[in-house]
Amino acid sequence: MIRNLFFTLTTVITTVSFGQVDHEDAFLKKAKKLVSNLSTEEKIAQTCQITLDALLKTDQSGAVILPIQIDENKLNTLIEKQAVGSVLNVSSHTLDRTTWNQILNQIHTPFRQGKTKVPVIYGVDAIHGANYVVGGTLFPQEIGLAATWNPSLGLKMGEITAYETRASGVPWNFSPVLDLGRQPLWSRFFETLGEDPLLASKMGEALIKGYQGNGKIDSTHVAACMKHFVGYSLPRSGRDRTPAWIPERQMKELYLPPFKAAVDADALTVMINSGDVNGIPGHINKKLITKTLKENWGFKGFAVSDWEDIRMLHTVHKVASSQKEAIIMAINAGLDMSMVPYNGPHEEYLKMFKEAIDEKKISMKRLDDAATRIIYVKLMLGLYDKQFEPWQTYTQFASTEFKTAAKTAALESITLLKNESNTLPINKTEKVLLVGEAANNLIFQNGAWTHTWQGVDTSFNTKGGLNFHEALKSKLGSNLTYIQGYDLSLKDGWESCSLLNKDQVLAASKNADKIIVCLGEMPGTEKPGDIKSLNLCEEQQNLVKALQETGKPVILVLMFGKPHVIREIEPKSSAILNAYLPGDYGSEALTEIILGEANPSGKLPFTYPRYDGVIEYYDYGNSETKTNKTDGLPINPQWAFGHGLSYTSFSYSDLSIKTTYDKKGNDLYEASVLVKNSGKKEGKEVVQWYITDEYASVTPANKKLKGFEKISLSPGESKKVVFKFTTKDLRFVGEDNKWIVEPGTFKLTCGSQSAAFELK
Ligand code: BGC
Repeated sequence: MIRNLFFTLTTVITTVSFGQVDHEDAFLKKAKKLVSNLSTEEKIAQTCQITLDALLKTDQSGAVILPIQIDENKLNTLIEKQAVGSVLNVSSHTLDRTTWNQILNQIHTPFRQGKTKVPVIYGVDAIHGANYVVGGTLFPQEIGLAATWNPSLGLKMGEITAYETRASGVPWNFSPVLDLGRQPLWSRFFETLGEDPLLASKMGEALIKGYQGNGKIDSTHVAACMKHFVGYSLPRSGRDRTPAWIPERQMKELYLPPFKAAVDADALTVMINSGDVNGIPGHINKKLITKTLKENWGFKGFAVSDWEDIRMLHTVHKVASSQKEAIIMAINAGLDMSMVPYNGPHEEYLKMFKEAIDEKKISMKRLDDAATRIIYVKLMLGLYDKQFEPWQTYTQFASTEFKTAAKTAALESITLLKNESNTLPINKTEKVLLVGEAANNLIFQNGAWTHTWQGVDTSFNTKGGLNFHEALKSKLGSNLTYIQGYDLSLKDGWESCSLLNKDQVLAASKNADKIIVCLGEMPGTEKPGDIKSLNLCEEQQNLVKALQETGKPVILVLMFGKPHVIREIEPKSSAILNAYLPGDYGSEALTEIILGEANPSGKLPFTYPRYDGVIEYYDYGNSETKTNKTDGLPINPQWAFGHGLSYTSFSYSDLSIKTTYDKKGNDLYEASVLVKNSGKKEGKEVVQWYITDEYASVTPANKKLKGFEKISLSPGESKKVVFKFTTKDLRFVGEDNKWIVEPGTFKLTCGSQSAAFELK
């Protein structure tokens, strides 16, 4: 257990000797007291967050001078005189721990010297490991983590990420993303935990527990940040930060639950959705931020804006006719901190906020509440006592144990989508031709938010694990031939693909027993990562088609953060593995799976589309099953949500349901099923429980995931898996947008088994 190891670091651990609720209350009281000693200007400054670049030395053109250095004048003005509450981000690229510590040290000096009253809280996007710390352990991106269906791996990823982020001195992580992955065109699909609210809730909760630990946050943990509240992930256009239209019923059934679970897991901060939902920009949605999140759910932490988003209310969303109005609208909606984040605009923010207070457009009560929430989190993080520990204290940084955990997460995420005639695993004596640029550079297996924002710059993405080519070579030696085959790049910001040495590839295929084509995409996120189509570029498809013509078995490895349509090349592919964006150790994991040293156990956390224009979800409506067409529609995704093969087989039998009643007479259900490893290899299976409401006053979904458990079975071994549920699992949001339960017949499905039961 990583946590046990952490206990050896007694010097960096603050012991919590009182109960969680007690110390939370104590911190809240203390925060209120501290706020009462601040001037209005100081309180406003707490709500102001600037980017690191705002503090750095720049040249005459305004460009940051590399290697980065803090500009003492800017530090004096912004941190000492103006006392801004928070700094975020990394400049240009990953920094080593010494540099991080130096920066943090300079930023905290005014507080340590008693020149400011409140310590700064520094935040960073460590979204798949400490991806902005040189040498940090890089895990799969969230979409891959979700494919493990194993929350204990999320917990480990959270713990290790927190530890290594703290080693840089940073105590706040802008993670996890809890937006659902239901718009595969969206450039940030890979940052999501997939399409299902239960899976996203369980994995998100695990990450948060890993980030924050239990109780007062010690110096090996960080504050989590739920992102991006809420509805950001469903832009109708597919483009980042464009409008979403989400009916209240769907909001309640799908998009809010992962955030509710995160609040219940005590997540300390939340970041607001940059886009607008139903015409209301996230940053002015008082109903969601204040009513739902803070009042109804009891969220005690603070809400930070996303990048420049108050400004955008005026310049982009056009709901505020001036900057000042934008500030007033956002703060009154319940926003507590503004990611302003540049030097210059922050002065305008501080000034206008003060004017709004003087004009009584923002009440002192609201400002006090915002400042109290921020200071409460700072107290929870121990920032008043000690701002950070020197990086040398963190002796387990990038340890073998951490790397193994990252590899295990990748191993359990990789999903075997197809395996005709046992093409996989490959025997080490077979001659293999490996083709594909994505196999030859870590940028393709890590994706964006890796060393740089977009993750495209190869110069920083070199020192992690092995790339796929290197990993396979290390095992196959001279039996492996690698040819690049295609080239991916960005032209005018869009992905461009070209074929390379096709003749050489075809010639080499003659000597191969099996051909592996590693398909990939350019890394990208947010607006720079926008794409126009889900179709895989023609060049990669043509290459695969040409290789399939040779008659040799072709194995596809998908290194995609989003599902690219591969309908035309799937039928003649003998085997297909989805690696997602598996992180630095993902290729070692992939190689072990390809060679049969490990058994794949990942399951798709989304419905893999067959067509660019037909986006389906597993919980489709029954009318979606009706069609006059005969060519593959309706409900015919390339692969279903939850699909994933193994090198062994599992059989399901003996499904049964028992109903009992609690003291109040409510139904309590206990279902069980017998799962057997009916094959010849040890393997892991994700047991998935789905419930279908046969008839309801609001068109019921085809089925809904209500429980899951990943189990491990030896050949021939059987396990009885139990699933307990209540009438709460039979609820839906009714016609008047309130949760209701209706009596009737329901169907429980697990693997090949199903059984009906009644709610009277
Ligand atoms: C992204 C956030 C991120 C923030 C800080 C924004 O542009 O939308 O997810 O946390 O930048 O880097």
